[in-house]
Amino acid sequence: MKGFEYLEEELQGMKEAGVFRSLVPLESDQGAKVVINGKEVIQLSSNNYLGLTNHPRMKEAALKAVETYGAGTGSVRTIAGTFSMHEEFEKKLAEFKHTEATLVLQSGFTANQAILSSILTKDDVVISDELNHASIIDGIRLTKAARKIYKHVDMESLETALKESKDYRKRLVVTDGVFSMDGNIAPLSEIVELAEKYDALIMVDDAHSSGVLGRNGRGSVDHFDLNGRVHIQVGTLSKAIGVLGGYVASTQAVRDYLIHKGRPFLFSTSHPPAVTAACSEAIDILLDEPERIDRLWENTKFFKEGLHKLGFETGTSETPITPVIVGDEAKAHQLSDKLLSYGVFAQGIAFPTVAKGLARVRTIVTAEHTKELLQEALEAFEKAGKELGII
Ligand SMILES: *Cc1c(COP(=O)(O)O)cnc(C)c1O
Repeated sequence: MKGFEYLEEELQGMKEAGVFRSLVPLESDQGAKVVINGKEVIQLSSNNYLGLTNHPRMKEAALKAVETYGAGTGSVRTIAGTFSMHEEFEKKLAEFKHTEATLVLQSGFTANQAILSSILTKDDVVISDELNHASIIDGIRLTKAARKIYKHVDMESLETALKESKDYRKRLVVTDGVFSMDGNIAPLSEIVELAEKYDALIMVDDAHSSGVLGRNGRGSVDHFDLNGRVHIQVGTLSKAIGVLGGYVASTQAVRDYLIHKGRPFLFSTSHPPAVTAACSEAIDILLDEPERIDRLWENTKFFKEGLHKLGFETGTSETPITPVIVGDEAKAHQLSDKLLSYGVFAQGIAFPTVAKGLARVRTIVTAEHTKELLQEALEAFEKAGKELGII
């Protein structure tokens, strides 16, 4: 079909620069090992931190929900698509998070869109870390509020932004709890201190912290012992929780407000029963099997130390997300390709997902990896890294 020559031209340019990427289909479930192109390889790219995507209890809960309630819900939540299981899960999640209420949305991405687009007006200002997730950036694009961007985890820069925005009705400080590309943890205690000093609201996006940080994986607010001091926690049910969805954990007023004003909530169909049932089971598993989180952190320590010993640059990571920073985009993709040929799936990540010149292969270990698998992966990294002159 004619008409898209301008896109084809740009894609051709990407191919010539070595940054065009094809999707990589998995032919297995999402385990510590996955099948790609008919070959079993070690998975180091998923967000399946605790191995819940295929936990027998999760699968059973999903199957049972399909048997009882069907495959879909047939409506948005505000018309006929709220099932009692949706509300029961939201209550359970609120209790788990130690907040008054939660509201579940289709994804973490839409949760950020819903909250950021709805609670602020042109009289308000949102103050955001420069490395916040794309869904926060896009959420901010949807609000009429003024915007201020502070330097990454830089508290002086945040304080300047707070001082400069005295005249707005409401100030909302937004940060990732764990930054998704670098694996560093936001200095949430300091952010809370500053926000309280200037009477600002605080929102933290715990996509990579829920199931990972805090008691039983309650997230970064619990990790820093800040329960009751952070106004809005956004989280995802798509990463460590192992299914799909996003949520806003806050007050009853915020929940009620989002039900009336949150556009992704109002205008998009609710989660299928299998999704909600499996998410609910995941919370029980977090409470019943905390050893999964212990294993995740043991594996993180082992793998990170291994990469350091080999001489790789891993930036500021403090969590299971460990970037292997290469710099050059094409080289990051070459490293990823070589690793795959040696039996390790670890995706290259380049601009615009990370800044130019900071291309990397991002690794995420899970609770399901054995020490033997991680040792094998380190050997592949050593071989590929030496061949490409990275170490
Ligand atoms: C992954 C991620 C999201 C999006 O979550 P989904 O449920 O996959 O849509 C939002 N915020 C952050 C910080 C993330 O890392």
